[in-house]
Amino acid sequence: MDATRNEIARAEASTARNYHPLPVVLTSAEGAWATDVEGTRYLDMLSGYSALNFGHGDKELLSVAHRQLDRLTLTSRAFHNDRLATFCAELAELAGMDKVLPMNTGAEAVETAIKTARKWGYRVKGVPAGRAEIVVAGGNFHGRTVTVVGFSDDPEATADYGPFTPGFVSVPFGDAAALAAAVTDDTVAVLLEPIQGESGVIIPPPGYLAEVRALCTVRNVLMIADEIQSGLGRTGATFACDLAGVVPDVYVLGKALGGGIVPLSAVVSSAEVLGVFEPGTHGSTFGGNPLACAVGTAVVRRLRTGAVQQRAAELGTLFAGLLADLPGDAVTATRSVGLWGGIDLSRRTGRSVCEGLLRRGVLAKDAHGATIRLAPPLVISEEDLRWGVEQLADELRVG
Ligand SMILES: *Cc1c(COP(=O)(O)O)cnc(C)c1O
Repeated sequence: MDATRNEIARAEASTARNYHPLPVVLTSAEGAWATDVEGTRYLDMLSGYSALNFGHGDKELLSVAHRQLDRLTLTSRAFHNDRLATFCAELAELAGMDKVLPMNTGAEAVETAIKTARKWGYRVKGVPAGRAEIVVAGGNFHGRTVTVVGFSDDPEATADYGPFTPGFVSVPFGDAAALAAAVTDDTVAVLLEPIQGESGVIIPPPGYLAEVRALCTVRNVLMIADEIQSGLGRTGATFACDLAGVVPDVYVLGKALGGGIVPLSAVVSSAEVLGVFEPGTHGSTFGGNPLACAVGTAVVRRLRTGAVQQRAAELGTLFAGLLADLPGDAVTATRSVGLWGGIDLSRRTGRSVCEGLLRRGVLAKDAHGATIRLAPPLVISEEDLRWGVEQLADELRVG
Protein backbone atom coordinates (compact mmCIF):
# COMPACT_ATOMS: atom_id res chain seq x y z
CA MET A 1 0.00 0.00 0.00
CA ASP A 2 3.02 2.31 0.25
CA ALA A 3 2.88 3.33 -3.40
CA THR A 4 -0.80 4.27 -3.03
CA ARG A 5 -0.29 6.12 0.24
CA ASN A 6 2.71 8.05 -1.06
CA GLU A 7 0.99 9.12 -4.25
CA ILE A 8 -2.15 10.25 -2.40
CA ALA A 9 -0.02 12.23 0.09
CA ARG A 10 1.81 13.91 -2.79
CA ALA A 11 -1.50 14.75 -4.49
CA GLU A 12 -2.88 16.21 -1.28
CA ALA A 13 0.23 18.37 -0.88
CA SER A 14 0.26 19.70 -4.43
CA THR A 15 -3.28 19.58 -5.84
CA ALA A 16 -6.21 21.86 -5.07
CA ARG A 17 -8.84 19.90 -3.14
CA ASN A 18 -11.72 20.48 -5.56
CA TYR A 19 -12.30 16.70 -5.65
CA HIS A 20 -12.41 13.97 -3.00
CA PRO A 21 -11.22 10.93 -4.99
CA LEU A 22 -11.61 7.36 -3.77
CA PRO A 23 -8.30 6.06 -2.35
CA VAL A 24 -6.98 4.32 -5.46
CA VAL A 25 -4.16 5.43 -7.76
CA LEU A 26 -4.67 4.13 -11.30
CA THR A 27 -1.79 3.69 -13.66
CA SER A 28 -3.07 1.74 -16.68
CA ALA A 29 -6.26 0.36 -18.17
CA GLU A 30 -7.65 -1.68 -21.02
CA GLY A 31 -11.28 -2.16 -21.99
CA ALA A 32 -13.40 -2.19 -18.83
CA TRP A 33 -10.49 -2.92 -16.47
CA ALA A 34 -8.07 -0.53 -14.78
CA THR A 35 -4.93 -1.36 -12.80
CA ASP A 36 -3.55 0.59 -9.84
CA VAL A 37 0.02 1.26 -8.74
CA GLU A 38 -0.04 -1.90 -6.57
CA GLY A 39 -0.96 -4.06 -9.56
CA THR A 40 -4.57 -4.58 -8.34
CA ARG A 41 -7.21 -4.70 -11.08
CA TYR A 42 -10.61 -2.99 -10.91
CA LEU A 43 -13.70 -3.19 -13.06
CA ASP A 44 -14.48 0.37 -14.18
CA MET A 45 -18.19 0.96 -13.62
CA LEU A 46 -17.92 4.75 -14.01
CA SER A 47 -16.19 5.18 -17.40
CA GLY A 48 -15.00 8.71 -16.64
CA TYR A 49 -18.64 9.80 -16.22
CA SER A 50 -19.38 8.36 -19.70
CA ALA A 51 -16.31 9.87 -21.36
CA LEU A 52 -15.03 6.30 -21.81
CA ASN A 53 -18.07 4.76 -23.50
CA PHE A 54 -15.78 2.78 -25.82
CA GLY A 55 -13.60 1.59 -22.95
CA HIS A 56 -9.99 2.27 -22.11
CA GLY A 57 -7.31 1.97 -24.75
CA ASP A 58 -9.52 1.14 -27.71
CA LYS A 59 -7.03 0.02 -30.36
CA GLU A 60 -8.67 1.72 -33.33
CA LEU A 61 -9.22 5.06 -31.59
CA LEU A 62 -5.66 4.99 -30.23
CA SER A 63 -4.19 4.26 -33.63
CA VAL A 64 -6.11 7.18 -35.16
CA ALA A 65 -4.78 9.40 -32.36
CA HIS A 66 -1.21 8.13 -32.73
CA ARG A 67 -1.20 8.72 -36.47
CA GLN A 68 -2.63 12.22 -36.06
CA LEU A 69 -0.14 13.03 -33.27
CA ASP A 70 2.68 12.41 -35.70
CA ARG A 71 1.12 14.48 -38.46
CA LEU A 72 -0.56 17.63 -37.11
CA THR A 73 -2.00 18.42 -33.68
CA LEU A 74 -2.94 22.09 -33.52
CA THR A 75 -3.36 24.90 -35.99
CA SER A 76 -5.81 27.24 -34.21
CA ARG A 77 -8.76 28.32 -36.31
CA ALA A 78 -6.67 31.09 -37.83
CA PHE A 79 -6.08 28.50 -40.57
CA HIS A 80 -8.05 25.57 -41.96
CA ASN A 81 -6.96 22.06 -41.09
CA ASP A 82 -7.72 18.94 -43.08
CA ARG A 83 -9.53 17.11 -40.27
CA LEU A 84 -12.17 19.69 -39.29
CA ALA A 85 -14.60 19.49 -42.21
CA THR A 86 -14.88 15.69 -42.14
CA PHE A 87 -15.55 15.68 -38.42
CA CYS A 88 -18.20 18.39 -38.60
CA ALA A 89 -19.92 16.91 -41.66
CA GLU A 90 -20.03 13.39 -40.25
CA LEU A 91 -21.16 14.47 -36.77
CA ALA A 92 -23.88 16.67 -38.26
CA GLU A 93 -25.04 13.71 -40.35
CA LEU A 94 -25.10 11.39 -37.32
CA ALA A 95 -27.28 13.93 -35.51
CA GLY A 96 -29.49 14.67 -38.53
CA MET A 97 -28.44 18.33 -38.39
CA ASP A 98 -26.59 20.72 -40.71
CA LYS A 99 -23.74 22.24 -38.76
CA VAL A 100 -21.31 21.78 -35.88
CA LEU A 101 -19.49 24.28 -33.68
CA PRO A 102 -16.60 22.39 -32.05
CA MET A 103 -15.31 23.27 -28.58
CA ASN A 104 -13.32 21.29 -25.98
CA THR A 105 -15.04 20.74 -22.65
CA GLY A 106 -18.71 20.16 -21.96
CA ALA A 107 -19.14 23.39 -20.01
CA GLU A 108 -17.74 25.37 -22.96
CA ALA A 109 -20.21 23.72 -25.30
CA VAL A 110 -23.08 24.58 -22.94
CA GLU A 111 -21.83 28.18 -22.82
CA THR A 112 -21.69 28.14 -26.60
CA ALA A 113 -25.28 26.86 -26.79
CA ILE A 114 -26.39 29.66 -24.44
CA LYS A 115 -24.67 32.25 -26.62
CA THR A 116 -26.22 30.65 -29.71
CA ALA A 117 -29.72 30.81 -28.21
CA ARG A 118 -29.36 34.42 -27.10
CA LYS A 119 -28.04 35.56 -30.49
CA TRP A 120 -30.79 33.58 -32.24
CA GLY A 121 -33.35 35.16 -29.91
CA TYR A 122 -32.28 38.72 -30.74
CA ARG A 123 -31.50 38.20 -34.43
CA VAL A 124 -34.15 35.72 -35.53
CA LYS A 125 -36.95 35.61 -32.97
CA GLY A 126 -36.86 39.37 -32.38
CA VAL A 127 -36.57 39.48 -28.58
CA PRO A 128 -35.88 43.06 -27.40
CA ALA A 129 -32.19 43.75 -26.61
CA GLY A 130 -30.99 42.48 -23.23
CA ARG A 131 -34.21 40.62 -22.37
CA ALA A 132 -33.47 37.03 -23.47
CA GLU A 133 -34.47 34.33 -21.00
CA ILE A 134 -33.54 30.67 -20.89
CA VAL A 135 -35.60 28.14 -18.94
CA VAL A 136 -33.64 25.37 -17.20
CA ALA A 137 -34.63 22.41 -15.00
CA GLY A 138 -34.15 21.93 -11.27
CA GLY A 139 -31.46 19.41 -10.38
CA ASN A 140 -29.57 20.25 -13.55
CA PHE A 141 -25.86 19.75 -14.10
CA HIS A 142 -24.41 21.54 -17.11
CA GLY A 143 -20.82 22.17 -16.01
CA ARG A 144 -18.78 24.43 -13.77
CA THR A 145 -18.37 27.88 -15.32
CA VAL A 146 -19.79 30.87 -13.44
CA THR A 147 -22.72 31.29 -15.84
CA VAL A 148 -23.56 27.59 -15.77
CA VAL A 149 -23.35 27.10 -11.98
CA GLY A 150 -25.39 30.28 -11.64
CA PHE A 151 -28.53 28.33 -12.60
CA SER A 152 -27.67 25.22 -10.59
CA ASP A 153 -29.63 24.53 -7.40
CA ASP A 154 -26.76 22.60 -5.80
CA PRO A 155 -25.42 24.78 -2.95
CA GLU A 156 -21.98 23.12 -3.17
CA ALA A 157 -21.68 24.21 -6.80
CA THR A 158 -22.72 27.81 -6.18
CA ALA A 159 -21.58 28.94 -2.71
CA ASP A 160 -19.26 31.97 -2.82
CA TYR A 161 -19.10 32.06 -6.63
CA GLY A 162 -21.61 34.84 -7.27
CA PRO A 163 -22.70 37.24 -8.61
CA PHE A 164 -24.14 35.15 -11.40
CA THR A 165 -25.29 35.76 -14.97
CA PRO A 166 -28.95 36.84 -15.11
CA GLY A 167 -31.49 35.57 -17.64
CA PHE A 168 -32.20 32.04 -16.38
CA VAL A 169 -35.43 30.69 -14.91
CA SER A 170 -35.56 27.25 -13.25
CA VAL A 171 -38.60 24.95 -13.13
CA PRO A 172 -38.94 21.41 -11.69
CA PHE A 173 -37.56 18.70 -14.01
CA GLY A 174 -40.27 16.51 -15.50
CA ASP A 175 -43.09 19.04 -14.95
CA ALA A 176 -44.32 20.15 -18.39
CA ALA A 177 -47.01 22.44 -16.95
CA ALA A 178 -44.45 24.35 -14.86
CA LEU A 179 -42.29 24.70 -17.95
CA ALA A 180 -45.18 26.00 -20.04
CA ALA A 181 -45.98 28.56 -17.33
CA ALA A 182 -42.37 29.79 -17.27
CA VAL A 183 -42.09 30.47 -21.01
CA THR A 184 -42.63 34.11 -21.99
CA ASP A 185 -42.27 36.08 -25.22
CA ASP A 186 -38.68 36.75 -24.14
CA THR A 187 -37.82 33.05 -23.77
CA VAL A 188 -35.20 32.04 -26.34
CA ALA A 189 -34.49 28.47 -25.20
CA VAL A 190 -35.30 25.60 -22.92
CA LEU A 191 -32.06 23.94 -21.83
CA LEU A 192 -32.22 20.51 -20.23
CA GLU A 193 -30.64 17.10 -19.91
CA PRO A 194 -33.12 14.58 -21.39
CA ILE A 195 -32.03 12.30 -18.54
CA GLN A 196 -30.26 13.97 -15.61
CA GLY A 197 -26.91 12.27 -15.00
CA GLU A 198 -25.25 13.96 -12.02
CA SER A 199 -28.58 14.10 -10.20
CA GLY A 200 -28.56 10.28 -10.17
CA VAL A 201 -29.82 9.16 -13.60
CA ILE A 202 -33.22 10.82 -13.24
CA ILE A 203 -35.57 9.76 -16.05
CA PRO A 204 -38.47 12.16 -16.69
CA PRO A 205 -42.06 10.87 -16.88
CA PRO A 206 -43.16 9.37 -20.23
CA GLY A 207 -44.32 12.06 -22.64
CA TYR A 208 -42.40 14.87 -20.91
CA LEU A 209 -39.78 15.41 -23.62
CA ALA A 210 -42.44 15.29 -26.34
CA GLU A 211 -44.39 17.96 -24.44
CA VAL A 212 -41.25 20.09 -24.13
CA ARG A 213 -40.68 19.68 -27.88
CA ALA A 214 -44.26 20.67 -28.72
CA LEU A 215 -44.17 23.68 -26.39
CA CYS A 216 -40.87 24.90 -27.85
CA THR A 217 -42.27 24.62 -31.37
CA VAL A 218 -45.49 26.47 -30.53
CA ARG A 219 -43.74 29.26 -28.57
CA ASN A 220 -40.85 29.60 -31.06
CA VAL A 221 -38.23 28.65 -28.47
CA LEU A 222 -35.11 26.55 -29.08
CA MET A 223 -35.10 23.15 -27.41
CA ILE A 224 -31.49 22.54 -26.34
CA ALA A 225 -30.70 18.98 -25.27
CA ASP A 226 -27.55 18.66 -23.18
CA GLU A 227 -26.60 15.12 -24.21
CA ILE A 228 -23.03 15.42 -22.96
CA GLN A 229 -23.50 12.45 -20.63
CA SER A 230 -26.66 10.82 -22.03
CA GLY A 231 -25.62 10.87 -25.68
CA LEU A 232 -23.46 8.72 -27.94
CA GLY A 233 -24.72 5.26 -27.08
CA ARG A 234 -24.99 5.28 -23.28
CA THR A 235 -28.78 4.82 -23.21
CA GLY A 236 -28.97 2.25 -25.99
CA ALA A 237 -29.66 4.96 -28.58
CA THR A 238 -27.46 7.56 -30.24
CA PHE A 239 -29.23 10.25 -28.21
CA ALA A 240 -31.47 9.92 -25.16
CA CYS A 241 -33.95 12.12 -27.06
CA ASP A 242 -34.28 9.30 -29.61
CA LEU A 243 -35.85 7.11 -26.92
CA ALA A 244 -38.65 9.67 -26.58
CA GLY A 245 -38.98 10.11 -30.35
CA VAL A 246 -37.95 13.73 -29.97
CA VAL A 247 -35.57 15.84 -32.07
CA PRO A 248 -34.34 18.98 -30.29
CA ASP A 249 -33.21 22.12 -32.11
CA VAL A 250 -29.74 21.93 -30.61
CA TYR A 251 -27.66 19.03 -29.28
CA VAL A 252 -24.83 19.71 -26.86
CA LEU A 253 -22.27 16.89 -26.93
CA GLY A 254 -19.02 16.16 -25.14
CA LYS A 255 -17.51 13.46 -22.93
CA ALA A 256 -17.53 10.30 -25.13
CA LEU A 257 -17.12 12.42 -28.28
CA GLY A 258 -13.39 12.61 -27.49
CA GLY A 259 -13.12 8.82 -27.28
CA GLY A 260 -11.67 9.05 -23.76
CA ILE A 261 -8.49 10.40 -25.36
CA VAL A 262 -8.95 14.15 -25.86
CA PRO A 263 -11.42 16.77 -24.63
CA LEU A 264 -13.88 17.34 -27.46
CA SER A 265 -17.32 18.92 -27.28
CA ALA A 266 -19.70 20.37 -29.83
CA VAL A 267 -22.91 22.24 -30.43
CA VAL A 268 -24.84 20.62 -33.27
CA SER A 269 -27.80 22.33 -34.90
CA SER A 270 -29.43 23.63 -38.06
CA ALA A 271 -27.81 26.05 -40.50
CA GLU A 272 -30.34 28.68 -39.43
CA VAL A 273 -29.51 28.46 -35.74
CA LEU A 274 -25.71 28.13 -36.02
CA GLY A 275 -25.85 30.69 -38.82
CA VAL A 276 -26.08 33.45 -36.19
CA PHE A 277 -22.32 33.42 -35.69
CA GLU A 278 -20.02 35.69 -37.65
CA PRO A 279 -16.22 35.59 -37.64
CA GLY A 280 -14.80 36.98 -34.42
CA THR A 281 -17.98 36.61 -32.35
CA HIS A 282 -17.05 33.34 -30.62
CA GLY A 283 -14.15 30.92 -30.57
CA SER A 284 -11.59 28.76 -28.83
CA THR A 285 -7.85 28.25 -29.44
CA PHE A 286 -8.15 24.48 -29.18
CA GLY A 287 -11.70 24.08 -30.56
CA GLY A 288 -11.67 22.08 -33.80
CA ASN A 289 -8.02 21.08 -33.48
CA PRO A 290 -6.98 18.31 -35.89
CA LEU A 291 -6.08 15.79 -33.18
CA ALA A 292 -9.51 16.06 -31.53
CA CYS A 293 -11.27 16.10 -34.91
CA ALA A 294 -9.48 12.93 -36.05
CA VAL A 295 -10.48 11.10 -32.86
CA GLY A 296 -14.00 12.55 -32.98
CA THR A 297 -14.46 11.37 -36.55
CA ALA A 298 -13.47 7.83 -35.51
CA VAL A 299 -16.01 8.04 -32.66
CA VAL A 300 -18.76 9.17 -35.03
CA ARG A 301 -17.93 6.33 -37.44
CA ARG A 302 -18.05 3.86 -34.55
CA LEU A 303 -21.59 5.02 -33.80
CA ARG A 304 -22.79 5.15 -37.40
CA THR A 305 -23.73 1.48 -37.75
CA GLY A 306 -25.84 1.46 -34.58
CA ALA A 307 -24.05 -1.66 -33.28
CA VAL A 308 -22.70 0.10 -30.18
CA GLN A 309 -26.16 1.45 -29.35
CA GLN A 310 -27.75 -1.96 -29.89
CA ARG A 311 -25.24 -3.63 -27.59
CA ALA A 312 -25.90 -1.01 -24.89
CA ALA A 313 -29.63 -1.64 -25.25
CA GLU A 314 -29.23 -5.43 -25.04
CA LEU A 315 -26.86 -5.34 -22.09
CA GLY A 316 -29.17 -2.68 -20.64
CA THR A 317 -31.97 -5.22 -20.37
CA LEU A 318 -29.68 -7.55 -18.43
CA PHE A 319 -28.44 -4.61 -16.32
CA ALA A 320 -31.98 -3.56 -15.38
CA GLY A 321 -32.74 -7.13 -14.30
CA LEU A 322 -29.59 -7.28 -12.16
CA LEU A 323 -30.42 -3.95 -10.50
CA ALA A 324 -33.96 -5.13 -9.77
CA ASP A 325 -32.46 -8.07 -7.85
CA LEU A 326 -30.38 -5.89 -5.50
CA PRO A 327 -31.22 -6.50 -1.81
CA GLY A 328 -34.57 -4.74 -1.37
CA ASP A 329 -33.95 -3.55 2.18
CA ALA A 330 -30.75 -1.72 1.18
CA VAL A 331 -32.17 0.32 -1.72
CA THR A 332 -35.15 2.65 -1.96
CA ALA A 333 -35.18 2.88 -5.76
CA THR A 334 -33.24 1.82 -8.84
CA ARG A 335 -33.44 3.42 -12.26
CA SER A 336 -31.67 2.49 -15.45
CA VAL A 337 -31.66 3.16 -19.14
CA GLY A 338 -29.21 1.31 -21.34
CA LEU A 339 -25.96 0.89 -19.42
CA TRP A 340 -26.65 3.78 -17.09
CA GLY A 341 -28.03 3.23 -13.62
CA GLY A 342 -28.90 5.15 -10.47
CA ILE A 343 -29.34 3.34 -7.17
CA ASP A 344 -30.83 5.15 -4.15
CA LEU A 345 -29.59 3.66 -0.87
CA SER A 346 -31.73 3.30 2.23
CA ARG A 347 -29.10 2.94 4.94
CA ARG A 348 -25.66 3.98 3.77
CA THR A 349 -24.08 6.91 2.00
CA GLY A 350 -23.05 6.47 -1.61
CA ARG A 351 -19.50 7.22 -0.55
CA SER A 352 -19.34 4.35 1.93
CA VAL A 353 -20.77 1.88 -0.59
CA CYS A 354 -18.30 3.08 -3.26
CA GLU A 355 -15.44 2.60 -0.78
CA GLY A 356 -16.73 -0.94 -0.15
CA LEU A 357 -16.96 -1.56 -3.90
CA LEU A 358 -13.38 -0.39 -4.29
CA ARG A 359 -12.23 -3.03 -1.78
CA ARG A 360 -14.15 -5.57 -3.87
CA GLY A 361 -12.45 -4.46 -7.10
CA VAL A 362 -15.12 -2.21 -8.61
CA LEU A 363 -14.80 1.49 -9.44
CA ALA A 364 -18.03 3.46 -9.02
CA LYS A 365 -19.00 6.93 -7.86
CA ASP A 366 -21.72 8.33 -5.66
CA ALA A 367 -23.99 10.96 -7.17
CA HIS A 368 -25.76 13.08 -4.61
CA GLY A 369 -25.64 11.80 -1.00
CA ALA A 370 -27.29 8.42 -0.95
CA THR A 371 -27.24 7.60 -4.66
CA ILE A 372 -24.71 5.59 -6.67
CA ARG A 373 -24.40 6.05 -10.38
CA LEU A 374 -23.17 3.13 -12.51
CA ALA A 375 -22.02 3.70 -16.09
CA PRO A 376 -19.82 0.83 -17.27
CA PRO A 377 -18.06 1.09 -20.63
CA LEU A 378 -20.37 -0.04 -23.42
CA VAL A 379 -17.74 -2.66 -24.37
CA ILE A 380 -18.06 -4.45 -21.00
CA SER A 381 -18.61 -8.21 -21.29
CA GLU A 382 -21.83 -9.74 -20.05
CA GLU A 383 -19.83 -11.77 -17.52
CA ASP A 384 -18.06 -8.69 -16.15
CA LEU A 385 -21.33 -6.78 -15.92
CA ARG A 386 -22.89 -9.60 -13.90
CA TRP A 387 -19.81 -9.78 -11.68
CA GLY A 388 -19.76 -6.00 -11.10
CA VAL A 389 -23.40 -5.79 -10.04
CA GLU A 390 -22.91 -8.94 -7.92
CA GLN A 391 -20.15 -7.11 -6.01
CA LEU A 392 -22.64 -4.30 -5.34
CA ALA A 393 -25.25 -6.80 -4.16
CA ASP A 394 -22.69 -8.42 -1.81
CA GLU A 395 -21.60 -5.03 -0.49
CA LEU A 396 -25.20 -4.02 0.20
CA ARG A 397 -25.89 -7.34 1.95
CA VAL A 398 -23.14 -6.81 4.54
CA GLY A 399 -23.92 -3.16 5.28
C1 LIG B 1 -20.15 16.43 -17.60
C2 LIG B 1 -21.29 17.25 -18.03
C3 LIG B 1 -21.12 18.60 -18.41
C4 LIG B 1 -19.80 19.31 -18.28
O1 LIG B 1 -18.78 18.73 -19.03
P1 LIG B 1 -17.24 19.12 -18.71
O2 LIG B 1 -16.47 18.48 -19.83
O3 LIG B 1 -16.92 18.52 -17.37
O4 LIG B 1 -17.15 20.60 -18.70
C5 LIG B 1 -22.22 19.28 -18.88
N1 LIG B 1 -23.42 18.69 -18.98
C6 LIG B 1 -23.62 17.41 -18.62
C7 LIG B 1 -24.98 16.81 -18.76
C8 LIG B 1 -22.58 16.65 -18.12
O5 LIG B 1 -22.78 15.39 -17.72
